[in-house]
Amino acid sequence: MEQDDLAEQARRLFSGRVEFLKSAPSLKFLPDPDAPEIAFAGRSNVGKSSLLNALTGRKSIARTSVTPGRTQELNFFEVGEPTVFRLVDMPGYGFAKAPPKVVEQWKRTVRDYLRGRLVLRRVLVLIDARHGPKPVDIEMMKMLDEAAVGYRIVLTKADKIKATELEAVHAATLAEARKHSAAFPEVAITSSEKGMGIAELRAAVLGDALI
Ligand code: GDP
Repeated sequence: MEQDDLAEQARRLFSGRVEFLKSAPSLKFLPDPDAPEIAFAGRSNVGKSSLLNALTGRKSIARTSVTPGRTQELNFFEVGEPTVFRLVDMPGYGFAKAPPKVVEQWKRTVRDYLRGRLVLRRVLVLIDARHGPKPVDIEMMKMLDEAAVGYRIVLTKADKIKATELEAVHAATLAEARKHSAAFPEVAITSSEKGMGIAELRAAVLGDALI
C-alpha cells in the first residue's frame, strides 16, 4: 500500500470505532486471538494513556495515571468496524513503590503474553524524551528481544524539551535500539499534547497490524 493511502486509512480507522473490549488481570482472561494486536508498553507516567488518547482522538479511552502498582491488567481496545486490529495497553512498569511480589507478577504476566501471543504483531515501547532509556526500559527491551517480538521505540512528551536536547536523546535512544535484536532501527518522536508525530504513528501502527 502507498504511504499516503496507509496514512489516510489509519486516520479514518482511528477516528472511527475504537471500543474497550476487556481487561485481562491474568492470561486466562485474554480475549480469543482473532485479531492482530499492537501493544503499548512503558514506565508508569511515561505518557502511555495520553498517547493512546491522542492516537484515537479521544479524551479518555485509556485512564490517565491510575495509582502506581494498581494497574496490573492488560487492557484491550478494538479498532475498526468490523475489527481490523486491537490496541493493547500493557501495565506500566518501573513503579518505585511496588512490592517485589507485584513486580514478579507483572513480569510473569507480561513475559507469558509476549511469548505466547501469536496475534501480537508489534510492541511500542514508550520512553520519556526528557530522560531517554532508563535501566527498566532496557530491561523491557531485553524481555522483548528474548521473546523475539519486534518493537518500535517511541519518545513521548517531546514538547517538554528543547530541540537540541531532543536531538541528543533521539541519537542516544537510537544507539540503544541498535544494540537490540528485536528493536526497529528507528525512533519515533511524539508529543500527545501538541499532536507531534501522531499521524505518522497511526500509519505505522496500521502498517504493523496489517503485516
Ligand atoms: P501513563 O501513566 O503512562 O499512562 O501517563 P499519562 O498519560 O497519565 O501521563 C503522565 C503525565 O504526563 C500526565 O500529567 C500527562 O498530562 C503528562 N503528559 C503525557 N503526555 C504528554 C505530552 O506529550 N506532553 C506533555 N507536556 N505532557 C504530557
